[in-house]
Amino acid sequence: MRRLRATVRTPTGFAGSAILLLVLFFVVAGPILWGPQAARINPLDILAGPSARHPLGTDELGRDILAEVFTASRLSLELSVLATLIGAAVGVPLGAVVAVLSPRPRRLIGTLINFTVSFPGLLLAIFLAVIVGVGSTGAVLAIGFGSAPGFARLSQTLASSVTEMDYLAAARLLGVSRTRLLFRHVLRNIGEPIILNVTMSVGGALLALSGLSFLGLGVQPPSYDWGRLLSDGLANIATNPLESLGPGAAIVITGIGFNLFGESLAQVLGQRVAPRRPGRKERRRLLAEPGARPAQPLPASPGSPAGRQPILRVEGLSVTFPRQRPASRPVRDVSFELAPGEIVGIAGESGSGKSLTALAIARLLPNGAEASAARLEFLGNDMFTWRGAEASRILGTKLPMVFQDPMTSLNPALHLGIQLTEASQVHQGTPRRQALERAAERLRAVRIDRPDERLCQYPHELSGGQRQRAVIAMGLMGEPRLIIADEPTTALDTTVQRQVLAIFRELSETTHSAMIMISHDVAVLGELCSRVLVMYGGLIMEDAPVGELAGARHPYARMLVEAVPDLGTARDRPLATIQGQPPSPAALPPGCPFAPRCPRALERCRLELPAATEVSPGHRVRCFNPLTFDETLVTLVEPATP
Ligand code: SF4
Repeated sequence: MRRLRATVRTPTGFAGSAILLLVLFFVVAGPILWGPQAARINPLDILAGPSARHPLGTDELGRDILAEVFTASRLSLELSVLATLIGAAVGVPLGAVVAVLSPRPRRLIGTLINFTVSFPGLLLAIFLAVIVGVGSTGAVLAIGFGSAPGFARLSQTLASSVTEMDYLAAARLLGVSRTRLLFRHVLRNIGEPIILNVTMSVGGALLALSGLSFLGLGVQPPSYDWGRLLSDGLANIATNPLESLGPGAAIVITGIGFNLFGESLAQVLGQRVAPRRPGRKERRRLLAEPGARPAQPLPASPGSPAGRQPILRVEGLSVTFPRQRPASRPVRDVSFELAPGEIVGIAGESGSGKSLTALAIARLLPNGAEASAARLEFLGNDMFTWRGAEASRILGTKLPMVFQDPMTSLNPALHLGIQLTEASQVHQGTPRRQALERAAERLRAVRIDRPDERLCQYPHELSGGQRQRAVIAMGLMGEPRLIIADEPTTALDTTVQRQVLAIFRELSETTHSAMIMISHDVAVLGELCSRVLVMYGGLIMEDAPVGELAGARHPYARMLVEAVPDLGTARDRPLATIQGQPPSPAALPPGCPFAPRCPRALERCRLELPAATEVSPGHRVRCFNPLTFDETLVTLVEPATP
């Protein structure tokens, strides 16, 4: 409503609204006030010219043309709106559904949309009108189906942008059904531009419908719309030009009204009116019993503390893109285990394979990627045997994932309460009120104040740190045994980063959930993790206890550590950098992938891939020429600039 008011306040919005209100008046009152006059046949007034009694003259039956124009408003607008709604009803779901389909049907629908959209809309409508049959029903169906490809293309484009969002991935991980994904997560987020387009399309439908009636393919006698009146008037244009001017002006002015209104609505939506706070009624609906409750300790995972059966066992995990040309293998032979309560960090540059490793474990790999492993076990179960609802239930409640950008992890169109309770409601059948109470507890556990109120807020009403904490709380709604966090602090400032890291540490201690923390920042991992895996070229190059990371044995791992400034770093020297670029996963060298950038490379390094070797208990390195613990890497640091 506020957006509507803001739209009306703009000059174009005001003009558009005024025109549409006038048209609405004629739609409602036209047939009542001028209908009898328009139906009155007067043999004495046949084809009379304009006069005070008949401002636009009369037709061949002596009926008043102006009264006919006013009366025809209702049918013209009704048919135009109906045709637009048919187009939107067919096209929008067809285009939006691509966001929730698997690749093959998605490609099929994409091809269908491309094929139909290549036909000019009006030509398609005329073609369909001939097939469906002459008359208003045929014209409406023809224009409706003729405009559907345009709506489908628009919603396909908009839905594709939503497909990339982490909240859709998170909802998939929770096992939310495709229908729910479509309506709750896709359509709600593309609704505004769709509504805008529908508004503007009514003007186009009016024009198309009038065109069909003008050609004799639309409304048939004795009914009439503006197109038919225009057609009749054209026959008498030599004697009474005003007869065609009346319906023509009505079509043009109404079309302009819809376009002006749509344009200004687009501007207002683009500016984003200040967010609305939910009203009291809405709050009550979301949370039946608001009020502060003391924080309850989070449930600890069974099987804690550390040292029991591993939570996660990964052996020889590879991720490939077999259909890419050339085929690529961005993750190769990754093996590690995680004990309950253990926090393991994965470090590496962009493209090192760290995020794909995590996505493979969470079964969230992008389309076209395939994972294989000698062993991939979660809680002692083979993850490759999980199917359908079982996989969704286990992954959705026990293996949450926290993504980098909380703004894309949370659905901007839904209150936090709805998003946090989704997993409990879908997988545990928790009643809404209980789920909301648990959500408030979880928000409290991640130190979000006034949690009951927050549940009624949209993500944009929270700060960046609060949003990330809300995402963590969402992961805690089930009974997490393993939390995967992919760069969870990268988008946050240093102070908030520390708060979020403290929350992760606290959660690990209280719930004994294992964690995989992915970051390019080894300093962040050093603060939180007990072990760090350094990845490069899709391989784990070093798997070291955090205490031994400062003396990392692999040249690449050591360079990563030395590239992080600390209080002892000389301020008059440039920071250490790693020269060169990481290799493309589609063109990996036969030997060590780091060889082209490694100052310690041997001839052998370029020919053979080094195997992972244990250099001390729990410390593995994949290198033919590792550093000793106290050896320095000064040769790798750029020389000081004078
Ligand atoms: S195997 Fe050779 S090229 Fe690779 S990191 Fe070790 S020394 Fe460098």
